[in-house]
Amino acid sequence: MRHLVLKLLEPEEIKFFPGQYLDIMVPGTEESRSFSMANVPGREGHFEFVIKIYPDGLFSEFLAEKVSVGDRLDVEGPFGTFTLRESRSSPLIFVGGGAGLAPVLGLLRSMADRGVEREAVFYYGARGQRDLCFEKELRELEERIPNFRYVPALSEPADGDDWGGEVGLITDVVKRLESSLSGRDAYVCGPPPMVDAAIPVLEALGVPEQNIFYDKFTTTGEQGGEDGQ
Ligand SMILES: Cc1cc2nc3c(=O)[nH]c(=O)nc-3n(C[C@H](O)[C@H](O)[C@H](O)COP(=O)(O)OP(=O)(O)OC[C@H]3O[C@@H](n4cnc5c(N)ncnc54)[C@H](O)[C@@H]3O)c2cc1C
Repeated sequence: MRHLVLKLLEPEEIKFFPGQYLDIMVPGTEESRSFSMANVPGREGHFEFVIKIYPDGLFSEFLAEKVSVGDRLDVEGPFGTFTLRESRSSPLIFVGGGAGLAPVLGLLRSMADRGVEREAVFYYGARGQRDLCFEKELRELEERIPNFRYVPALSEPADGDDWGGEVGLITDVVKRLESSLSGRDAYVCGPPPMVDAAIPVLEALGVPEQNIFYDKFTTTGEQGGEDGQ
């Protein structure tokens, strides 16, 4: 995964809500790819992204092989509805996998900055220990947001991983550790198979369908790129 930070040149400001995404044009092509912002609005026009590199991916290749500091990119947005429903006060469960960390980090940073005190837990799934990122900040967010817990889990810990935490697919970890999620709002973000697996698990634990909000990081070949609610 890569941490891409862009500075806005023009216009001077793009207003957005934490959890939304931008479309970034792939230089030299007519194609764009969607990426969720991990930052909160107002930090000097900076935009932060957490981007997974796929072998042979168009944007992936640009990011892994070609981009350099000072390059200019064209973006469009913001888009998406993966934003915190401010009118609600219910406790929260976030479930994320891989680069699905990005918008959840944006939401958590915004909760911490604004003193939102809704009880919250973030179940985050990665393959091995080397795939975990922003660990230190997520632990700090446990201090900054009252009643917030961060629960990372590894689905395929590597031989050398020194890991005493949860192991398994993140949806199985949620099933194992939670007995009831009734009354919670759920926010789910990551690759489509993870999102599709999480929804029935959350429903079975008592979260009504209308209180499950999600962004699927659909690939370019698939239909319905912005499957939020
Ligand atoms: C609303 C939205 C928000 C998104 N936010 C983010 C984000 O914050 N961070 C992020 O990393 N991505 C995010 N994505 C996914 C992103 O837009 C691209 O689809 C992804 O980065 C792949 O682009 P690419 O050009 O590198 O690969 P492409 O050229 O589109 O794909 C080439 C090949 O790579 C492989 N591949 C690509 N994507 C996947 C995948 N998801 N799973 C398995 N194999 C794959 C496939 O073999 C595919 O044929 C988001 C998508 C959506 C719809």
